[in-house]
Amino acid sequence: MSAKILSGTETAKEIRAELKAAVEKMHTEHGVVPGLVTILVGEDPASQSYVSGKQKAAKELGFYSVQENLSADTCEKDLLDMVERYNRDERIHGILVQLPLPKHISESRVIMAIDPDKDVDGFHPVSVGRLLLGEEGFAPCTPSGIIELLKRSGANTSGAEAVVIGRSNIVGKPISMMLARKAEGGNATVTMCHTGTKDIAAHARRADILVVAAGRPGTVTADMVKPGAVVIDVGVNRIGIKPDGKAILAGDVDFDTVKEIASAITPVPGGVGPMTITMLMKNTFKSAQMKLEKEGHTNK
Ligand code: NAP
Repeated sequence: MSAKILSGTETAKEIRAELKAAVEKMHTEHGVVPGLVTILVGEDPASQSYVSGKQKAAKELGFYSVQENLSADTCEKDLLDMVERYNRDERIHGILVQLPLPKHISESRVIMAIDPDKDVDGFHPVSVGRLLLGEEGFAPCTPSGIIELLKRSGANTSGAEAVVIGRSNIVGKPISMMLARKAEGGNATVTMCHTGTKDIAAHARRADILVVAAGRPGTVTADMVKPGAVVIDVGVNRIGIKPDGKAILAGDVDFDTVKEIASAITPVPGGVGPMTITMLMKNTFKSAQMKLEKEGHTNK
């Protein structure tokens, strides 16, 4: 039997429609719109395209949005000063500095400079700590998108064996933490695999939920998947160029064969990818909501 295809494109559309209504309600009731600034340093085409996707989504949702384009030779101090300005800007609820940054700028110093209450990317150590401790804050967008996809597809994570392949700070570690936490969309027993894992296939074959974020096409093949498993493919690999110049993308999972074994699977493209930007919007909305609550406004 062929697996159910978990469309991130469709789920993201659903969430954006809900968010749009919530933004209008916030504006009507409190006169506030969520504000997002995206800061791009340099002219890397992939980064430019990610940032323009984020700006487009913010505008469509009715956010107040600002795009800052800095030249590649911007010094670290100027970038830090800009972040500080937006930390103090009342109209801005979310600050996103597009990574990677040019080599002469310390990413960690820049991330540390962002007010954790505006850290909608969820990369600040305070955000990481809050996630670990189960406190209110911002979880990184890609893992949040995965949890949302799982929840909305009706996949049961509670009591499930979850296996994550990859241990990066932006995907593998946070998704492992989120799947394990005592919460809706979590409560799974999690194994985190990496290049030091002895027998990845043996671990993968035990998984009811298999999340693959290795960044290598063909990491998971059909013989590594338990019949009926839910497979989330985070990988985005450029495996060629189409005649129109666009990249041909593939995930980390051998989609055509695995879909015959899994009960549900995300495609690449159109799976986890579209969820990531949507969760950035959700975090920005949440930031505006948290600020209103702090100021004593209750949400109706
Ligand atoms: P990363 O920083 O390169 O980390 C990859 C992780 O996978 C590492 O922990 C590595 O182990 C592990 N790994 C690599 N090959 C492996 C193998 N053969 N067996 C077991 N473990 C292996 O990558 P990332 O930033 O997490 O991203 C992973 C993939 O997701 C990439 O394709 C990226 O483009 C994609 N991605 C997509 C989105 C989205 O929105 N759709 C967002 C972020 C990332 P070691 O730690 O031992 O090296």
